Amino acid sequence: PTRTSADLIRAEEPVVAHNYHPLPVVVARAEGTWVEDVEGRRYLDMLAGYSALNFGHRHPALIEAAHRQLDQLTLTSRAFHNDRLAEFAERLAELTGLDMVLPMNTGAEAVESAVKVARKWAYDVKGVPDGQATIVVAAENFHGRTTTIVSFSTDETARSGFGPFTPGFRIVPYDDLAALEAAVDETTAAVLIEPVQGEAGVVIPAPGYLAGVRELTRREGCLFIADEIQSGLGRTGRTFAVEHEDVVPDMLLLGKALGGGIVPVSAVVARREVLGVLHPGEHGSTFGGNPLAAAVGTAVIDLLRTGEFQRRAAALGVVLRDGLAELVGDGVVGFRARGLWAGVDIDPTIGTGREISERLMREGILVKDTHGSTIRLAPPLTVTEEELRSALAALKRVLAA
Ligand code: PLP
Repeated sequence: PTRTSADLIRAEEPVVAHNYHPLPVVVARAEGTWVEDVEGRRYLDMLAGYSALNFGHRHPALIEAAHRQLDQLTLTSRAFHNDRLAEFAERLAELTGLDMVLPMNTGAEAVESAVKVARKWAYDVKGVPDGQATIVVAAENFHGRTTTIVSFSTDETARSGFGPFTPGFRIVPYDDLAALEAAVDETTAAVLIEPVQGEAGVVIPAPGYLAGVRELTRREGCLFIADEIQSGLGRTGRTFAVEHEDVVPDMLLLGKALGGGIVPVSAVVARREVLGVLHPGEHGSTFGGNPLAAAVGTAVIDLLRTGEFQRRAAALGVVLRDGLAELVGDGVVGFRARGLWAGVDIDPTIGTGREISERLMREGILVKDTHGSTIRLAPPLTVTEEELRSALAALKRVLAA
C-alpha cells in the first residue's frame, strides 16, 4: 500500500536529521504555482523554495533544457572542458554586466568562494600583509551554513555549538553607512552584504544605502560583494536588487533560481581583475560548471532576458503591497515588500509565524515563518493576480479567525 502523508512524516523522524521543522505537508507533485500532496490536496506555493523556484515548478522551457541535456552529457568534471560552460558564462556575464564567472553549486559555496577570492585579491592586488585580510559584514545576515559563514552570523542558533570559528570578519549594523565606514580600514578586502536581507525578514535598507556602500568601497579600495542569492534573478522587480540604486558590485553572488528549481547552480560573477586572482589548483568543485547545470542555468538566463518576469514581479508587487497595507491594523503590525517578496509582521497576540503558517496551510496556502511572528511571502514570479489575491484573502481570513 502507498504511504500516506502522515506515514511519511512519521517515517522521516528516525532516519532524517532534525535540522528542519517542516510544515506537516508532504508534496508529491507540482506545476507552476501549485503543489499537490500525497492525498491529492492542492496548495498555492507562496514560498517558492526560498526563491529557488522563481519561474515556478517545472517551467516547460527549463524542463526541456534539462531533458535535452540529460540525453547528451551530464558531467565531465573540470578536468575536461564541456560544450555548455562557455555559453552559460557568456550569458551570465552579459546579464550582470560583469566579466567572469566562477561556477559552483550551492549558495553557501558561492559565498565561501567569494570570501576566498576577496582574501586572495587583498593579498595579491591590494597588498594587504599575508593573513591580515578582513571582510566586513552586516548584523542579522544570512549567507549560508558552513563553518566559515556561521563564523560571521549573529544568529546564536546558527552558531552555538559549532565553534571554533574562522577569524577575519567584522560585523556592523545593517543599513548604517557610518558604522561601515568606521569598520573599513587598510586591511579590508571586501564588504559583503545582502541588498535585501531575506532571512532577517525581508529587510530593505534605506534609499541610498547600496549606492553609499558602492561609493565607500570604491573610495576605500575594497571590494563590494553583493549576495543576491535570494534577492536576485527577478524577485524584486529588477534582475538584481542592486539595480534599484543603479549599483554594480565588484562581485555578485547568485544561486537558488539560477538552477531553475531543478539542479543546484550557483556562481560568483566578477570583474576580470578580481576573479583573475584564481589560478589552476587554487579552488574548485567536482560538480561546479557541469553541463546539466550550465544548460539549465543558460535556460534560466534566457527567461530573464525578455524582462517579462521582472515586469511581472514589479507589477504584481504593487498588488501584494496594497493587499498587505489593507491588513495593517487587522492582524498585521507591519510589513516590508519589494517586488514579489514581503516580510509580514503578524500581531504576536494572534499567533507565532509558525502558527499562522500552519493555519494558512489548512487554507491551501504554503508560506514559511522567519523570526518570531514574521512570515515571508515569495511566490513564483509566474503567480497570477488572481492567485495572489486569493493568498491575501486567505491571510485575511486566518488573521480574523
Ligand atoms: N545567501 C543568501 C542571501 C541566502 O538567502 C541563502 C539561502 O537562503 C544562502 C546564501 C545560502 O544558500 P544555500 O542554502 O544554497 O547554501
